[in-house]
Amino acid sequence: MRIGIDLGGTKIELVALDGSGRVLLRRRRPTPQGDYEATVKAVAELVGAAERELGQPGSVGIGIPGAESSLNGRIKNANSTWLIGNALRHDLEELLQRQIRLANDANCFALSEAIDGAGRGAEVVFGVILGTGVGGGIVVAQRALAGANRIAGEWGHNPLPLLEDEDQTPPQCYCGRFGCVETWLSGPGLCGDHQRHGGESITAEEIAARAGAGDSVCEASLRRYEGRLARALALVVNILDPDVIVLGGGLSNIERLYLTVPELLATHVFSDHVDTRLLRNQHGDSSGVRGAAWLWDAHYNASFASG
Ligand SMILES: [Zn+2]
Repeated sequence: MRIGIDLGGTKIELVALDGSGRVLLRRRRPTPQGDYEATVKAVAELVGAAERELGQPGSVGIGIPGAESSLNGRIKNANSTWLIGNALRHDLEELLQRQIRLANDANCFALSEAIDGAGRGAEVVFGVILGTGVGGGIVVAQRALAGANRIAGEWGHNPLPLLEDEDQTPPQCYCGRFGCVETWLSGPGLCGDHQRHGGESITAEEIAARAGAGDSVCEASLRRYEGRLARALALVVNILDPDVIVLGGGLSNIERLYLTVPELLATHVFSDHVDTRLLRNQHGDSSGVRGAAWLWDAHYNASFASG
């Protein structure tokens, strides 16, 4: 049995899979806000409860909104800032009395979709999460790339490329930089841009719905969003040239992105044509937690993923 944990900023989700990937059990609970000790304890309790309920032990893989430093094993780059600087893997291994595997949540998302989701059968998959934050993960031959600095696929904190007039006064990111892809393409990024252009304070979902109903201010905001997404993805295509780009996170539910963005992408990519497919995820909110469980797949090479 494989147990996957998605340790998010607002909720901790657990899934237990059998050898064929069938879901045996799902559980979720809120993430203790701002409290590292309580967060670690909550993860261990979820695992303990699942194993008692199913009457068997499992391997444990965990996806986190950040990465493990290759210097000292401490967490970095986490937007759940209370994880930063803590030896999460070490502490969980102590509590659970076994080795665990840990990877960035966008890498888990990409892995899940590459194994049995939208990217099934593709050699190179770039997974993108467009949600409260923006993350990216690279899977090659069903293995998630970690990278020398454990930041492979870390797309959200590059500056938006190919700036246009509408991208002036780039917003500041929580990471300290200005104009990161995340500040434009996250849900809050879209909402902020919409307001700066005279729109109301409404959710990303509502902006998309109103654009579909003919609201011209919302339509303009969504067009700016599509243009930025295409430019930011063109850079990835020029470097990685993936077979498939899979979108996840709340904004991946905006249907028209799969029509508009590929057209725009073709105008920026350095190629006579673009065969890369832009696809919606198949496992929805479960992708991250499934990918975390797959971290212990026999096919999977640990040195590739989490070091
Ligand atoms: Zn940033």
